[in-house]
Amino acid sequence: MSYQSGRHFLQIPGPSPVPERLVRAMSKAVIDHRGPEFGELGRNVLAGIKRIFQTESPVVIYPASGTGAWEAALVNTLSPGDKVLMCETGQFATLWHELATRLELEVEFLPGDWRHGASPEAIAERLSRDSDHQIQAVCVVHNETSTGVTSRIADIRRAIDGTGHPALFMVDTISGLASAEYKHDEWGVDVTVSGSQKGLMLPPGISFNALSDKALARHQQARLPKSYWDWSSMLASNATGYFPYTPATNLLYGLKEAIAMLEEEGLDNVFARHQRHAEATRRAVQAWGLEVLCLNPEEYSPVLTTVLLPEGQDADALRKVILARFDMSLGAGLGKLKGRVFRIGHLGDINDLTLLGTLAGVEMGLTCAGVPHSPGGVHAAMRFLADH
Ligand code: PLP
Repeated sequence: MSYQSGRHFLQIPGPSPVPERLVRAMSKAVIDHRGPEFGELGRNVLAGIKRIFQTESPVVIYPASGTGAWEAALVNTLSPGDKVLMCETGQFATLWHELATRLELEVEFLPGDWRHGASPEAIAERLSRDSDHQIQAVCVVHNETSTGVTSRIADIRRAIDGTGHPALFMVDTISGLASAEYKHDEWGVDVTVSGSQKGLMLPPGISFNALSDKALARHQQARLPKSYWDWSSMLASNATGYFPYTPATNLLYGLKEAIAMLEEEGLDNVFARHQRHAEATRRAVQAWGLEVLCLNPEEYSPVLTTVLLPEGQDADALRKVILARFDMSLGAGLGKLKGRVFRIGHLGDINDLTLLGTLAGVEMGLTCAGVPHSPGGVHAAMRFLADH
C-alpha cells in the first residue's frame, strides 16, 4: 500500500486510538519484572485500576485479550456442570456463551433481539423459578459492542436482589470501562471483566477481573481446571506488586499513564463527554434519515452507535468505500448483523473535531456509496455540540 497522508481515523469500537501521551509512556526499555522498580509500578497500577472500576476489592490484571478475562471469570468461580444464566444481547454475549459451553458449563441463554439490553424482569422471572438455586451465576454484557446497546447493570442487580437468589453476578464491560459509567462496588457486581483497548485507550494485550468478597469465597470451592488464570497465585504475587509470570510490562507503563489521564479529566467528565458525543452522533444519524439499532433510549451506548441501513443496502460495501476514500475504519456488522449495520466508535481519546471528522467521513461515504439518505447529519451534530 502507498503512503496515505494525514492520520488514519480508527473509529471502530475498539481498539480505540492510542493517544500520543500513552505511546510515549510505553516507549521505554523493558525492566526486570522481579526487580524493585517493577514492584513500584505494579503496586501503582494495581491500586489505580481499582479506582477506575470504582471498587475497594482486588482487580486482577492478565497479559491477555478480553476473551482470556472472560474465561478467567468463569474458571475461577464455577465447577464442572454448573448452571449459568446468560443473556443474548448480541454477538459478544453469544461468544461468551460459546466459551462457557466449551468449558462444559450448563448454560441457559435468555433470548434477546439484539436491539435491547438484558431484561432485569426476565432475569428476575427466571431466577424466581429456580427455587433450589441451581443457577450459580448470571452473566451480562454491559456495553454490547456489536449492537451499541448498554444493559442497565444497577437495575439488574436490584432485580436479582428482589428474588433473594444467591447467584454470582458477572458483568463484561470490556468496551464500557472508562467510557461509560461503571460502579463495580455500588452496583454489587461479583466479577467484572474488562480489557485495555477501549476506554483505557491502550493497545490490546491486557485484561481484567475485578472481584468481590463473594466471588473470592466461591473461588475457594470452584473446581473447573485453571492454572494460568488462577486468581489465588495472582493475588499472592500482587500483594507485593508482582505477578506470578512475566507481565505485559510496557502495557503497564501505559496503564499507569492512562489512569493518570482519566483522573486528570475526572471520571465523571469522561462519562459526560462520551454521552455528549453519542448524542451528537445520534442526531447525525437521525438527520440522515437512518436508524439507530438500539431501540430503547435508556440503553443508548455512550461508546458506539450502530446504524442500520435500509433493506437492500450493503453496510460492508459502504465501509469499504469510506476506508478507500477517506482512510477511516468503521466497525462491521457482526454475526447476524453482518452487512446490515455499521458501527461508529466514539470511545476513548476523542474530542468534538475528531467526532465531526468521523461523521463527515460517514456522510461523504453515504453519498459515494449511493446509500439513500438526507444531507445535514454533520450539521445537526455541529449544532448540538456548539449548543451543549
Ligand atoms: N466482550 C466485548 C463486549 C467486546 O467488545 C470484546 C471485543 O471487542 C470482547 C468481549 C472480546 O475481547 P477480546 O477481543 O479482547 O478478546
